[in-house]
Amino acid sequence: MDFERLAELLFPNIKTTPEDMEARYPRRELKEGAAVTRFAPSPTGFVHFGGLFPSTVGERMAHLSGGVFYLRIEDTDAKREVPGAAEGLIKTLARYGVNFDEGAILDENGNISDKGIYGPYKQSQRKEIYQTFAKALVKEGKAYPAFTTEEELEQLNSVNKKEEIKNTNWEAEAEARRAEMLAGRNITIEEVEKNLAEGNPFVLRILADGDGERKVKMTDLVKGDLELPENDEDFVLLKSDGIPTYHFAHAVDDHLMGTTHVIRGEEWLPSLPKHLQLFRYLGFKAPKFMHISQIMKLDENGNKKKLSKRDMGANMDDYTGMGYTPEAVCEYVMTLLNSNYEEWHAQNPDKHYKEFPFSAKKMSVSGCLFDYDKLNDVSKNVLSRMTAEDITAKVTEWALEFDPEFGKLLARDKEYAEKIFAIGRGGKKPRKDLATLADAKGYMGFFYDELYKVEEEYPESFDKADIKATLNSFMETYDYADDMNTWFEKIKAIADSLGYASDMKAYKADPEAFKGNVADISMFIRLAVTGKTNAPDLYTVMQIMGKDRVFDRINKMTASI
Ligand code: GLU
Repeated sequence: MDFERLAELLFPNIKTTPEDMEARYPRRELKEGAAVTRFAPSPTGFVHFGGLFPSTVGERMAHLSGGVFYLRIEDTDAKREVPGAAEGLIKTLARYGVNFDEGAILDENGNISDKGIYGPYKQSQRKEIYQTFAKALVKEGKAYPAFTTEEELEQLNSVNKKEEIKNTNWEAEAEARRAEMLAGRNITIEEVEKNLAEGNPFVLRILADGDGERKVKMTDLVKGDLELPENDEDFVLLKSDGIPTYHFAHAVDDHLMGTTHVIRGEEWLPSLPKHLQLFRYLGFKAPKFMHISQIMKLDENGNKKKLSKRDMGANMDDYTGMGYTPEAVCEYVMTLLNSNYEEWHAQNPDKHYKEFPFSAKKMSVSGCLFDYDKLNDVSKNVLSRMTAEDITAKVTEWALEFDPEFGKLLARDKEYAEKIFAIGRGGKKPRKDLATLADAKGYMGFFYDELYKVEEEYPESFDKADIKATLNSFMETYDYADDMNTWFEKIKAIADSLGYASDMKAYKADPEAFKGNVADISMFIRLAVTGKTNAPDLYTVMQIMGKDRVFDRINKMTASI
């Protein structure tokens, strides 16, 4: 076979050579140890939680090492592309701290444009580049055209599949496919000419030189040392429209763009021998690989399963509506990525997660479990550390978008809202009432007359007369100017006067001697004022609400019992 001639027949319009491409895309000048990483999504919809993972790893590895992190849009599958998805993806990732130095970026007008000299960063615009390398492979006898197209093979498969449902002969299918492939290898130049003259489409296949019985060794930075079967499949490099498959585009792009670490989902691990073969054929130094485990969740029966697209928590755009701040989500991601993150954070509570010395070595080999309880814990901590001003601004902004009625109440009097949010905040052990911004309404809505309602009832075990007497005595003795101690002494006095223990020790020693204790007396008042039995510090609540509104609510309560 005259490979030179074959290459000219197949790619008459390609005048460039791999050397031209190497010259067009010079090697990067980086300091020792700097990592060049990329996120390479096929933008077919929203950003999945499982996509935030590898992208966060890429961002961290590049930026902690003084390297470069870039975005490449893998849009070679036009059927799957969703308009606007790439723009949305860039915005969503930015919200979660994943910012790119280079690649496809959003310009001021919200359109995608290229930044950096290794572009175009959209694969659909790199056809000439791929075909240059494809032509070179043909010239070297490492790739050949197959006029039995992938579509035809697929058809063959589906026919076989129907047959197999009857005879379940799966191996026959694989054999048939292999026979087709091998027959294709023996194509003559005359047959190629004839097919081209007839306008028949072709796919370009690699001429595999591996042996499936032998193993190829490699070290994955997450999975460790691996042995995988060599590639013996003549897989497709270019589809019949001249567009590359993922495998081919990956090798060409990651080489030319100077990627040092390929960070991607573990679903690509089985294809790795294909990629290693391609890097070898093309004369490229293979990058380092990091295959990230899938995110799992527990199903109703407690079994682990993959976090699927439809699962709650899968779509990164849902977190905003649920009231999780990006800070909380990012910290949660860090806890999943590196098991020592929490310990570090406990020791460095004031440091940003980006200061954490993230390490690929500490990543989970087997997979991380997505867990709402843990996310809520992390989020509670994040929200509790905010200043009253910050949390007020965050909740107000959130509510104006997702719960406008509540949002308007907060915005009406910012100082009032800040006083409420200041309760229990700022000390060493701040209150952790809010897991999400959406929890704020349930927690402090009662401060607003518009939202106040009595949500619970007094337990039957208490005498209504005692409750009424408590409320009345409270109003008789209450003085807004009292400090907390004086205020509480007065409540204790009410307890004593009604036969409830004011001294908890005495109560515990002999509960039978009392109708109840001072906590019950406080509860009588709390339920009237806040509508709930569980609420922030009652003295402070009253200081914020003011005497008139407190009395108004107590009066309504006494009238109703
Ligand atoms: N486009 C591929 C995907 O979305 C990229 C995998 C990679 O990072 O190489 O799965």
